[in-house]
Amino acid sequence: MTEPLIYEICQAGRRAVSLPACDVPQTPLPAGCEREELPLPEVSEIDLVRHYVRLSQMNHGIDTGFYPLGSCTMKYNPKVNEAAARIAGFAMLHPLQPEASAQGALALIYELQELLAEIGGFAAVTLQPAAGAHGELTGVLIMRKYLCDQGESQRDVILTPDSAHGTNPATTSMSGLRVVEVPSDRRGNVDLAALKTLIAQHGPRLVGLMLTNPNTLGLFEENVQDVLRLVHEAGGLVYGDGANFNAILGIARPGELGFDVMHYNLHKTFSTPHGGGGPGSGAVGVRDFLADYLPGPIVARYESQTFEVAETSKVSSLRWYMPPKSIGRVKAFYGNFGILVRAYTYILMHGAEGLRQVSENAVLNANYLQARLKGVYPIPHGDRVCMHEFVAQGILKAAPGIRTMDIAKRLMDFGFHPPTVYFPLIIPEALMIEPTETESKETLDAFADALIQIAEEARTQPELLKTAPHTAPVKRLDEVRAAKDLVLCYAPGCG
Ligand SMILES: *Cc1c(COP(=O)(O)O)cnc(C)c1O
Repeated sequence: MTEPLIYEICQAGRRAVSLPACDVPQTPLPAGCEREELPLPEVSEIDLVRHYVRLSQMNHGIDTGFYPLGSCTMKYNPKVNEAAARIAGFAMLHPLQPEASAQGALALIYELQELLAEIGGFAAVTLQPAAGAHGELTGVLIMRKYLCDQGESQRDVILTPDSAHGTNPATTSMSGLRVVEVPSDRRGNVDLAALKTLIAQHGPRLVGLMLTNPNTLGLFEENVQDVLRLVHEAGGLVYGDGANFNAILGIARPGELGFDVMHYNLHKTFSTPHGGGGPGSGAVGVRDFLADYLPGPIVARYESQTFEVAETSKVSSLRWYMPPKSIGRVKAFYGNFGILVRAYTYILMHGAEGLRQVSENAVLNANYLQARLKGVYPIPHGDRVCMHEFVAQGILKAAPGIRTMDIAKRLMDFGFHPPTVYFPLIIPEALMIEPTETESKETLDAFADALIQIAEEARTQPELLKTAPHTAPVKRLDEVRAAKDLVLCYAPGCG
């Protein structure tokens, strides 16, 4: 990286601020707080601004280019969401404010709970979990507690398909349960024969099954009704991993399909910024018999206990509520509220019709790309109509030395973020492509053209791929060393 670090543009005596003269007595810092060896950078304001703006431009973001990261739903985040999240009445709230002075925020939470319940076909929703994986943990703990209350505490096995996201088995292990993998069949669905065998084997020990629909191959589970029936008949519950909800909004309601619990990734489906680890929201919806187990507090309407809200003198009755058999809190306070404001804004902005269009266009875009890339790259399930994403392979007959990693790196030279690579694990050399609904035909075509050109380059100038990226600020990394030999702190000469 050639970019200088802030300490390297320092010049003694330069300042980015000029403070007024101190008009209070100076007090030295308590002993031990000052560190002589920790110099502060000395730079002028313009150098400071340029430094950080330059750094910010070195990152690829959804506002700078196409970001078809499969399973992550990197759609455009409308700026109106940001404006709503910055409204002072929301942004400046303190989480410990009395209910009566925060009725607007409670109303937003209440309505978002109701909207998500309606969209997902569930009876009740909690907005506490901070991410999808956190929602999974919440959901599995709910399933487990419910089964224990039924006198079924011996149940300790969760089935997860081999196409599942790694968070599914991780959640299961963290809950103290055992993971048993279910294979996929040739069409990319859960293998029903194998599922029957596993259920027969684990029957009375079964907590349930975690299912992503559409699954991580981008395919709608054609056997979903059979899968749900088989697990339910064995006394188990079905957890829905809702990360791929973007494909079926307004078209299918998982609660109606028979899923007992599901998490929504608000930061994927409902367009809040993500990447880089958060904050996010993994709201969880449940069917009626599980509503009392939700983590709280959630917002409830108490019609008999109204109070006047200051300023508007409107009467309201929204209060925090702890469900009676709750698994407890899973997060401090009420979840990542700013993310909830954005998701709420997005849902209201689209309305029911708009949300359905979101999914229809997401599916159309993915199928368009799949059709354009067919015959150039292998697409193992390309004979099926895909949902919002599809999985190709970075395997080229004419260039046997080229791998998916080379293709992904080369894509960066064309200004595109690479797709998800090497996931799902069951597809060798996977390239998992999810364009989302917010991209134009021109962008999709440019991306397809780039991938087609790269396939040609792989044959004629493979070195170009092997040494890519060439235009990015950071060139080809040694992936193993980058992970094993982390340099996280500034060290002179170590830029
Ligand atoms: C993203 C994702 C998750 C996990 O969600 P996080 O919000 O990243 O914790 C789980 N399952 C699938 C299929 C996903 O794509």
